[in-house]
Amino acid sequence: MSSVRPEGAPHTFIWDSSRPVPWTCPYCNRPTTVTASDVETFLHVKGLSSSEGSRCVQGSLVVCPNTECKRTTLTLLLRDWVQGYSSNYPGQVLEVWQLMPDSAALSFDADVPAAIIDDYEEACRILNPSPKASAALARRCLQGMIRHFWAITRPTLKAEIEALKDKVDGPTWTAIDAVRSVGNIGAHMEKDVNIIIDVEPDEALKLIGLIELLIHEWYVRSQDGLRRVQDVIDLAKDKKALREQGESTPPTPHLGE
Ligand SMILES: [Zn+2]
Repeated sequence: MSSVRPEGAPHTFIWDSSRPVPWTCPYCNRPTTVTASDVETFLHVKGLSSSEGSRCVQGSLVVCPNTECKRTTLTLLLRDWVQGYSSNYPGQVLEVWQLMPDSAALSFDADVPAAIIDDYEEACRILNPSPKASAALARRCLQGMIRHFWAITRPTLKAEIEALKDKVDGPTWTAIDAVRSVGNIGAHMEKDVNIIIDVEPDEALKLIGLIELLIHEWYVRSQDGLRRVQDVIDLAKDKKALREQGESTPPTPHLGE
């Protein structure tokens, strides 16, 4: 099971000037690679002494290489500033803010109910400031899809996922149940409220990744399949109409069929 969010998606974008970086534009959603001519970066090292230690702020402006798009994505990273032997360098990424556009939600070429897309986009928007709430929204998004796409409605999401067991493959079912379970933490539905479990942004992003995969598998692929079937039906109709037209007009000389 692989993600539909390609490597180098805006959430994790870190510019490495030594090679082209795989990247998907959040506006036109086209996977591409960005090179030095598409990127401007800056690095600011925190000079003031504080209790947090050495930090640096790294920013990148990427202009989409797709000539029909050419829109700008602005990302800001807060990173550790690590002391090396001969020089210092940016270390672990502590915070990521994608400022433009303000959400890294993907767009899907499919007819998906607006309520599901709203939950998905909101889960992406609040991923960094509030990963727990993002996980809860991913859970609600999942429930919306099971009810809409599979027409399964039960009193609880757990029961709905049970009913889905013979309809999806084993690893997908396990991952779906994981979205429910991690989403419960965000929705404050754990049985023991004294146990505090946090959800980190990269964990919430994994739930969003599964939601994206399911939207792709359930809606995009099935609607694409229906479109292809309809294309063949239309093609056969067109050919039949041409044949009938040909039969009603005098034949023109030709070399063969
Ligand atoms: Zn673009």
